[in-house]
Amino acid sequence: MRRHRNVKIVATLGPASETYEQIRALHEAGADVFRLNMSHGKHEEIAEKHKIIRQIEQDLDSPIAILADLQGPKLRVGGFVNPEGEMLEEGAKFRLDMDSAEGTVERATLPHPEIFKALKPGSSLLVNDGKIRLTVDDCGDDFAECTVVAGGVISSRKGVNVPDVVLPLAALSQKDRKDLEFVCQLGVDWLALSFVQRPEDVEEGRALAKGRAAILAKIEKPAAVDSFDEILAVSDGIMVARGDLGVELPVQNVPPIQKQLVRKCRSAAKPVIVATQMLESMIESPMPTRAEVSDVATAIYEGSDAIMLSAESAAGSYPIEAVTTMDNVAKEIEADPTYTEIIEASRKSSGKTVADGIVAAAREIVETTDVKAICCFTQSGTTAALVARERPRAPIVALTPLVGTARRMCLTWGTNCAITDTVDRFKMAVVSAARAARKMGIAEESDQIIVTAGVPFNVEGTTNILRVAPCEERLIFRTDPE
Ligand code: ATP
Ligand code: MG
Ligand code: MG
Repeated sequence: MRRHRNVKIVATLGPASETYEQIRALHEAGADVFRLNMSHGKHEEIAEKHKIIRQIEQDLDSPIAILADLQGPKLRVGGFVNPEGEMLEEGAKFRLDMDSAEGTVERATLPHPEIFKALKPGSSLLVNDGKIRLTVDDCGDDFAECTVVAGGVISSRKGVNVPDVVLPLAALSQKDRKDLEFVCQLGVDWLALSFVQRPEDVEEGRALAKGRAAILAKIEKPAAVDSFDEILAVSDGIMVARGDLGVELPVQNVPPIQKQLVRKCRSAAKPVIVATQMLESMIESPMPTRAEVSDVATAIYEGSDAIMLSAESAAGSYPIEAVTTMDNVAKEIEADPTYTEIIEASRKSSGKTVADGIVAAAREIVETTDVKAICCFTQSGTTAALVARERPRAPIVALTPLVGTARRMCLTWGTNCAITDTVDRFKMAVVSAARAARKMGIAEESDQIIVTAGVPFNVEGTTNILRVAPCEERLIFRTDPE
């Protein structure tokens, strides 16, 4: 679906967004990528959502990316008797233990024996991205008696962080391995790995995925920030997961890290998502706070590929309004001349391959003439990513015969994806590109477009042709040199 903005929107699905109508409405409002959080919901529910998304994709004839987010070694409380959860008041006592009974206002299950072994009286426990703070008064091998230092609502499966205790945790739990195999068989486009600490963690995920999905590393641990360059080198994309990052590190450290990570991803031509609490107040309110709007705007000015909704779209009362808000903010920011200035000033000099030269030339032609689109033929998606890195002023149309590539590219800045028949001659490529650009409403017959491709066709990594061509159908009947 053609969007009138370049930044992409990722929407997490949950109980507030699970029917065909709800998910389709989110897509029509602007969600380009859907996130299935493996921490919540059973496999049947995940499969159901997956099926609905693929149906919408078919009904609207436009690729949609599905991102499955693996839980990783995250500590979580168990379920609660009251589905709404319980209010923990400051000063109250609260117990965590290994009892499997559902939680109440007095206690909850924390099914992680290793955490109890590591706790000491005086340790802090942070619940729900740090919103609730507990201090341990007394603890043993299977319980901790705590006092609520900062209160709030605790509910089913909320995350728990223990920032001052080092826990011995493997990158992928047994559950993660099962979930990974399940979603790969189902057919998802992106796999997000949580709590990555080392490049080896990403490689482990990649080995299990066996090429069935692209790998996105979530940066939410101080260790991942320290080894970011090595992690980026082995990942296909990155998520700045600010929820846990802002608990594991002082919150004021998050904005500079976000800026640095977004920049590095752009120069590596790999998509980056800025995530968590972007429009948090919209879980309960149809109107965002000014600070939230400013946060979304900042991520866009910084050059992020995508911005994400978590509970706002998964469990909030205003999922559509939240997507619409992001869409409106994005259109406004991208129309601001300061945005163009910032984005163009932060362009890093390109790499040294023929493809790097071609995409830079395409961007310059857009700046000096009136061409309406850069249409690129791509197998793996690499050429489209390189074009996107240039942040050209004209829309990017990425053409590929591979549906998996088209779907994955839905996460990349400014990329409009179309699936084409396999082409084997450049003339056919031009006709096919012109047709796609017209169908998307990006160019008309009388316009000029840029077409890039690699000859021989259908081989990865061969982009070697750039042509400025009229956006018309008749081209194929002319006597062109090639
Ligand atoms: P993560 O650390 O992976 O972000 P999270 O628990 O913060 O995990 P999000 O997907 O960011 O989860 O936020 C969504 C919130 O919506 C959750 O905290 C949860 O309370 C609620 N929710 C309930 N059911 C679901 C579901 N099926 N999918 C996603 N979120 C759900
Ligand atoms: Mg979250
Ligand atoms: Mg997280």
